[in-house]
Amino acid sequence: MKNEKNTTDFKALFLGSKSENLNLFKELINNSYEDAAGWRKNFHSQDREIITSFDKKTKEFIDTQSKMEEVLNNLSSLLRGGSIPWHSPRYLGHMNSETLMPGIIAYFEAMFYNGNNVAYESSPATSKMESEVGIDFCRMLGYDPKKAWGHICADGSIANYEGLWYARNFKSLPYAIKKAFPNLVKGKTDWELNNMSVDDILKLLENNEDKWDAIKSHSVRHDSENINKLGKVFVPKTKHYSWLKAADILGIGTNNVIPIDVDKNFRMDITKLESEIQKCIDSKTPIMAVISVVGTTEEGMFDHVDKVIEIRKKIAKQNAWFYYHIDAAYGGYTRSIFLDEQNNFIPFKDLKDKYEEYGIFQNKINWPSQDVYNTFAAMGESDSITIDPHKMGYSPYSAGGIAIRDIRMRNAISYFATYVFDTKINIPDLLGAYILEGSKAGATAAAVWTNHQVVPLNISGHGKLIGHSIEGAFNFYNHLIETKKYKINEVIVNVHLLTNPDFNMVDFVFNIEGNTSLIKMNELNQKIYEETSFVEGDTYINTVLLSHTNFSNEEYGEAPLDLLNRSKVEAKDFEKEGVNILRSSILSPWLYDKDISKYFNDIFDKSIQEKLMEIIK
Ligand SMILES: *Cc1c(COP(=O)(O)O)cnc(C)c1O
Repeated sequence: MKNEKNTTDFKALFLGSKSENLNLFKELINNSYEDAAGWRKNFHSQDREIITSFDKKTKEFIDTQSKMEEVLNNLSSLLRGGSIPWHSPRYLGHMNSETLMPGIIAYFEAMFYNGNNVAYESSPATSKMESEVGIDFCRMLGYDPKKAWGHICADGSIANYEGLWYARNFKSLPYAIKKAFPNLVKGKTDWELNNMSVDDILKLLENNEDKWDAIKSHSVRHDSENINKLGKVFVPKTKHYSWLKAADILGIGTNNVIPIDVDKNFRMDITKLESEIQKCIDSKTPIMAVISVVGTTEEGMFDHVDKVIEIRKKIAKQNAWFYYHIDAAYGGYTRSIFLDEQNNFIPFKDLKDKYEEYGIFQNKINWPSQDVYNTFAAMGESDSITIDPHKMGYSPYSAGGIAIRDIRMRNAISYFATYVFDTKINIPDLLGAYILEGSKAGATAAAVWTNHQVVPLNISGHGKLIGHSIEGAFNFYNHLIETKKYKINEVIVNVHLLTNPDFNMVDFVFNIEGNTSLIKMNELNQKIYEETSFVEGDTYINTVLLSHTNFSNEEYGEAPLDLLNRSKVEAKDFEKEGVNILRSSILSPWLYDKDISKYFNDIFDKSIQEKLMEIIK
């Protein structure tokens, strides 16, 4: 199919599952360390050398270097033997695949310079890159890049801790203002204080910048007296476990984290959320925050962001407000498929034509649904968003990120009074004062920055890669739907799919026809998983690789019952056993292609056929 537009060709940007681009890769890696080596030589080139030719000929020198070589050889063999072959389209497990070549080379090169982005003075080049990446996040996620702010952090978990840190501190600020400067909030009731929005607070302090530090010294940061008055945190049952850790370490208490049921599409049940929120309002219990997940870790589903925004608008009439954080660690980069080359959000009615014009999908696939579209359209109205470049950004570990809607929000969590900025570029001298972490690799920023520079974060670039991944997932999903069953001698084994995917993750179970026992079905899927996963010492005997999960009644409520029903097993053991699920995130950039996908689907069938034969016999 021809593209009418000149778009990014991803075959040029990955090393390739068979290292097809090795020559180019070698050349670029070579250039990168030669540049870095030259940089050393050229810094005061008159300085004397320290490691002399004589040094290099001593026995100790030679032995020491030989030892290093030995260890590195050993490292190589350990890595080759004990790594997961993400790069192969046979890998259909966790959210990982090969990463973009420009990012790998950038990481490698920047590692020589070993910048520490905790402070501008220890990393001038990579700090600027991080600041630009922050702006990229904001623009891609729907925040106004002139007002908003973002930064890289180690991972999505840290970003979530930071998100809840914002929520907690903002909820506590009005009390702190009341203690420090009562006049500023004169006449406000406790309920009103409890429900001041981020914007209300920022507005109040707009011309009182100097008061922030005094106020913060009365906030929960310093004074834990009010920590129990800050209310509940609502999360969907499909939440990532980092949210519990977040509530734990921030002193909020996991008892204040309220899991909301998910609907049969594994999205947070909006009716339930609304009724829980109303109960809080009726009993004058504050709501600290609502968390939505855009790209759930186990199912790849997108919560209804637009509907949470609607609820927030609705409850404003009752003087109620909550902080709204979106955990888009997994799904955040997906927003690039909705942006045109000017980074405008494409109207729903134009999407199909645009996708055709840019060659986003090779075949007619029915994506996105209106629900998914509405979610991405509304993201900019949240307060903060988690996003992981090391997932759908195809950047190397360890790269998470967070964006906040208004840069001034940073004052709620920052340390040190000195707000020192370079006048031309908006980079704090000490990034460490505005984030959860301390020292952090400049190399990570270089990698993400380079990927973003090479691949525009819109429909002409990254959106196309997201499209490849989604189409790859649909090729696999449709294959399973069409196959439906595997015949092992007289036994028929059926495949049942969890949901119609919102994104690029396919969850499924196998069940033997006629079996109604959940315990037996769980055993079967557990065995299949064991046959298709990491094997200590011998991973490469596997012909395909899957990941798995267990949906328990306790964690998931009734949402999995629909799958049990379709799999024709009885639900009576569900409460005790949960249900074992096989899980495939399809990040591979190659499975969008019909021929390639058919090649690997045939391998999958053959492999499953063999394994079932083994298991059933
Ligand atoms: C992966 C993930 C996280 C955690 O991110 P890490 O980078 O693994 O720390 C948080 N939330 C969601 C929804 C995720 O998928």
